Formats: sequence, C-alpha cells, structure tokens
Amino acid sequence: MDKNQQFRDDVRAWLADNCPASVCEPGAVVKSSFSSKHRDGDSKLWLENMSTKGWVAPMWPTQYGGGGLNFSENKVLQQELKRISAPAPLVGMGLTMIGPTLLEFGSEEQKQRHLPKIASGEIHWCQGYSEPNAGSDLANLQTKAEDNGDHFLINGSKIWTSGAMHADWMFCLVRTDTTVQKQKGISFVLFPMTDPGVTRKPIRLISGESPFCQIFFDDVKADKADLIGKLNEGWTVGKRLLQYERSSIGGGSITSRDTDITDTIIDLAKKYRGDDTGQIEDPLLRHEVIQHEINSRAFAATSKRMMAEAKSGKTPGFATSMMKYYASEMTKSKSELMVSILGPEALGREGDEFTKQELAITRRWLFDKAFTIAGGCSEVQLDIIAKRILQLPAS
Ligand SMILES: Cc1cc2nc3c(=O)[nH]c(=O)nc-3n(C[C@H](O)[C@H](O)[C@H](O)COP(=O)(O)OP(=O)(O)OC[C@H]3O[C@@H](n4cnc5c(N)ncnc54)[C@H](O)[C@@H]3O)c2cc1C
Repeated sequence: MDKNQQFRDDVRAWLADNCPASVCEPGAVVKSSFSSKHRDGDSKLWLENMSTKGWVAPMWPTQYGGGGLNFSENKVLQQELKRISAPAPLVGMGLTMIGPTLLEFGSEEQKQRHLPKIASGEIHWCQGYSEPNAGSDLANLQTKAEDNGDHFLINGSKIWTSGAMHADWMFCLVRTDTTVQKQKGISFVLFPMTDPGVTRKPIRLISGESPFCQIFFDDVKADKADLIGKLNEGWTVGKRLLQYERSSIGGGSITSRDTDITDTIIDLAKKYRGDDTGQIEDPLLRHEVIQHEINSRAFAATSKRMMAEAKSGKTPGFATSMMKYYASEMTKSKSELMVSILGPEALGREGDEFTKQELAITRRWLFDKAFTIAGGCSEVQLDIIAKRILQLPAS
C-alpha cells in the first residue's frame, strides 16, 4: 500500500470541497500570475483556499505561510491537482525566485516579514537586475545606492523588468561601492514599487504583449532592514537567485498551458499536413515531429530525475544552466515547428481569417524566442556549462 495513501485521500477530499470547478474547466482564465488584489470570483477563492492550507508554497515551513510538506507529500499533492486539471493557484517570482532566496539568505525577521505575503499571493514581486548596459555582463550594473542613515537612496534605471506594471515590490541589485572589483561592490536590496521615486514605462513586444517595463529610480528609498545578506556581498545572493530562476525555467515554468492552443503537435501535423488516412504525409516532417516528441519526453524524464535527486533539499547549482538552456531552446524549436506545420495559416497576427489557435501559435512563436534570452541568454548558459560543469579551460 502507498505509504502516502492516507495523505492522498485527505488531499482528494479537501480538493473536492475547496477547488472551485470553474477553475478546472478547459480554457478557464485563472490569473495565476496576479496577486490577490487583481483577482475576483473563483480565481481569488482558489488562491485563498490554497493559501489557508499553506499549499500555495507547499514545501515552505508552516511558520512562513507554507504547507510544511515533504518531497513525497508534495508529489502526491501535485498528482492530485493534475488529476482534476486544477491550475497552479499562484505562479511568479515571489514563489520561485525571491522566496527561496530569502529562505536561504534572509534573516529571521526578513523571512517573517516577507514570506507569508508571498505565500498568500498578497505581494507581487519583480526583478531589478538588467540595465541598458548590463545584461549578459550583469556585474557591470550602475544603479547606485547611497547610504542615507537608516535607508539607501537609489538612483538609476533597470530594463526588461517582467511584470513590473503590477508589481508591489522589487528585489534589486545595486552598486554600493565603485572603488572595488565590480562584483565586490554590489548589494541586494528590496523596496516597494509604490515609492514616489519609481517610474514605470511599459515596453511593447513584436508578439503584441507588453510583459515588461523600463524602470527609472529617482531617490528611491530602500530600508536597510531590507538589505539581504551583507553590504557589498549581493553578487553571491544575486547569482543564487539566478539559479532558482533557471531551475524554474528549466523545470517547466515556460511550458505552462496556453489555453488557446488545444492541439498537440502531432494533432496539428495530422490536421494540417495529413494524407487521406490522417497520417503525416511528408516523411521529413514526420521525422521532425517524432524527434521533437523524443526530445521532450527525454527532457521530461531528466527533469523528473533531477527533481527526485534534489529531494534532499539541496540548493540548486550550475546544472540549472543545462536545464534552462535545453528547456528554452526546445520551447523555441517547438513553436518554430508548429509554425512550419501551419504554413500560410501562420501568417496572421490578428484578423478573422485565422482561427484562435492559429493566431495563438503565431504569437507564441514570436514570444518563445525570448526564453532563450530571459534569465541569461543561451550563450551565457553554454559558457557556464563549459566552465563550471565540464571544467573546460578558458579560451
Ligand atoms: C522575456 C524577457 C524577460 C526578462 N525579464 C527580466 C526581468 O524581469 N528582470 C531583469 O532584470 N531582466 C529581465 N530580462 C533581461 C534578460 O536577463 C537580458 O535580456 C539578458 O540577460 C541578456 O542581456 P541583454 O538583453 O543586455 O543582451 P546582451 O548582453 O547585450 O547580449 C546580446 C546578445 O549577445 C550575445 N552575447 C552576450 N554575451 C555573450 C557571451 N558572453 N558569449 C557569447 N555571446 C554573448 C548573445 O547572443 C546575446 O543574446 C528579460 C529578458 C527577456 C527577453
């Protein structure tokens, strides 16, 4: 008998009573990436119910708003959620990036102040790392924080800040010493985006979406109580957070469901490029589709194995670059394959001549390239893999 059978029965019973049926319907708009104040109806109720149980952050300690589940209990929870097609109640940088980083580097007071608000979906976070001249070369960042008694005063600009339009707080890398080697003069601070010195300017993408902003700081205040780690040691904290980010991208956060794309890639190939018997006609295309299926299944198995290996609670390491690299390149080539299957039907970005799914595939294709850049571009990941995993000599 499954040693977690009792737990599974309890989860199932609880979900039957507390998961609103409407959020599990195909095509349901759940707003998982929004904080509680930007939601209503069943989307809000689902977040609240899960948060009361601690299952928004199932493996975080209960004193910080988590569920205190161990690895195998969390696996059961995820299986039961999947069984009823329940969506994640909350996704985003709070849960996957700043939360784990605070658990590792935050003081007790910082954990108690910030983590419960993440686990309840009350506060939505954004990431202030990249600047116009500091992307791949992140340590070149120039946004400055000056000591002003009990707080820092921040001036400068960040760019490509995802979700910044709705964000309540930012975790930010700032320069606190200009006289030392660039990595040694960086600190990691948190501050509210409601500060009057913060200006947000949305950036629009070719896909039509506007997922990020450029942010300007004009004497923005960051309380010293929100300095994470020591002064000038933010590079270590910031790099660890990137590993959490890459682990999340590599672990499938970019392959979450797109409700307008309902066909699998095999269905699409049969529908648009099938012969009279419904089989994929072109042998080359058949090969590409099969190869994609093999790659994605192999990747899913590797990802599962890595998660099982990580159950000891070990912090993520350089292997996250491998997972991030592969997941983002695979996502990009999947949307390229979908577009090539659609042929002329993938020419529409808007308009009635195209189905909802066709338009969604075209927009996905335009957006998915971004994943090979966000969180550190593919070339940077290959560099890390070469140096840190394969230990190849520097050229
Ligand atoms: C969708 C999306 C969301 C993002 N969200 C955020 C966010 O929330 N917060 C945030 O701070 N940033 C965010 N970013 C920014 C992202 O981290 C940077 O775009 C990324 O690190 C690359 O920096 P860059 O754009 O300055 O490009 P550059 O550093 O100028 O690089 C441009 C290109 O040069 C090449 N290159 C650069 N360095 C090397 C190298 N060492 N070896 C070989 N080739 C190289 C690569 O081809 C690279 O793509 C986001 C980006 C995207 C696309």
